[in-house]
Amino acid sequence: MIRRLVQRVQDRVQTLLARKPRSRRTPKRIPVSEHGIDRALVSRAALRTCETLQAAGFRAYIVGGAVRDLLLGIAPKDFDVATDATPEQIKSHFRRAIIIGRRFRLVHVMFGAETIETSTFRALGTGERDTDEHGRVLADNTFGEQHEDAARRDFTVNAMYYDPAREEVIDYHDGVRDVRRRRLRIIGDPEARYREDPVRMLRAVRFAAKLGFEIDPDTREPIGRLATLIENVPPARLFDEMLKLLTSGHAVGCIERLRAEGLHHGLLPMLDVILDQPQGERFVMLALSRTDERVRAGKHIAPGFLFATLLWNEVLTQWNARVGAGEHRLPALDQAIDRVLEVQTEKLAIQRRYSADMREIWMMQPRFERQHGQAPMRLLEHLRLRAGYDFLMLRCDCGETPGELGQWWTQFLQADDETRGKMTQQRPEAGSGTRKRRRSGRRKAAPGGATGAATEKGDHDRKQ
Ligand code: ATP
Ligand code: MG
Repeated sequence: MIRRLVQRVQDRVQTLLARKPRSRRTPKRIPVSEHGIDRALVSRAALRTCETLQAAGFRAYIVGGAVRDLLLGIAPKDFDVATDATPEQIKSHFRRAIIIGRRFRLVHVMFGAETIETSTFRALGTGERDTDEHGRVLADNTFGEQHEDAARRDFTVNAMYYDPAREEVIDYHDGVRDVRRRRLRIIGDPEARYREDPVRMLRAVRFAAKLGFEIDPDTREPIGRLATLIENVPPARLFDEMLKLLTSGHAVGCIERLRAEGLHHGLLPMLDVILDQPQGERFVMLALSRTDERVRAGKHIAPGFLFATLLWNEVLTQWNARVGAGEHRLPALDQAIDRVLEVQTEKLAIQRRYSADMREIWMMQPRFERQHGQAPMRLLEHLRLRAGYDFLMLRCDCGETPGELGQWWTQFLQADDETRGKMTQQRPEAGSGTRKRRRSGRRKAAPGGATGAATEKGDHDRKQ
């Protein structure tokens, strides 16, 4: 109790003493001959947003990650625009634009399927900003000058402005130099900036892994000490940032970096437990490397599937414990899922639609073990069969369940009706070898068995 109090006082003193990010007023203006950005990589929608605002007499620039990616010759996945126009002024110049956000209002300007997030330059804190006892900024919503807007961004490489009309990069914090040196450097005093917003620590790791950048030593140093501040971040925000990290196409690289920095404890709540269990680790790393491949091939990632893989080991452990204690298999799984989701949704605010997907994928797993009679045919009608099957294959590939089971289902899904009929007439033992013994006959599902399938008691004897 006293130690926590002392810690809080120390945190508060640190925050008050910390240097505020200095806002440099005179930027470097870098011409195309030096920065070499290929204008063809800029989306038409972003160009039109800037042109329209500039034609109306405002200043308007492409800003943030898009400028960084353009400098690296990468086509940005989305574009943000910063301007001195207010949200109302921005909205009035476009046919399809909506003002969003309560804390800080910004405008979504829409062109066909593309949305350009357009925000008014934001001011630096006045010194009276609303912060919690660890220094985390709670309210921060006044308009300001461009140099202030630059200083409140996170890393130097994320704080550059590109004017597509003049083809000029406006650079207040040597971002262009840092892109060239492949350095990730936070703007201002690192500790104070992490205290203001602890999510920046996760962002540092994500950008370093994704861009292949070194984290500058001063930027890296406080992360280990401050990792626990992540606990104060609202769960919904943490979930968004974690999803970005896991679907960056570099999730494996990110995890490796987190470990190298000693940060896999504390920063990502669910990975804490998982990475310390060899079986869990093998499964998660395989799932993440498949996810990375999919992202890089431009394929869709279903967050429900991803989180189902991350938490499977937790579910499995609790399921085994319940079955070991004599509970029926399906209700035991259902209960294990309830417990895991209860804890994790609180920590991470996993949205309902994703947790519903996770439950379906998990509850389908024991149904794959039933290879005879009508059960496999009924499973074919399941709307989420593809996700459930992919999940099963992942389990087979890391040796958590016998490979024969996956092979049987692969064959079954590809087979015609006649072959399927023959396959399901065989004794289950001949198909997969997963059921080594059958201690009791079939029973009706106990209440709570979400799939409504028949269940068997106590034969969960697979080695996990
Ligand atoms: P990505 O390629 O992942 O989208 P990004 O740099 O565009 O990278 P966003 O999360 O889209 O990242 O944020 C857009 C910009 O907003 C950043 O480039 C940065 O300037 C600013 N920003 C975002 N999050 C923070 C933060 N936590 N603190 C300060 N500035 C931030
Ligand atoms: Mg972005």
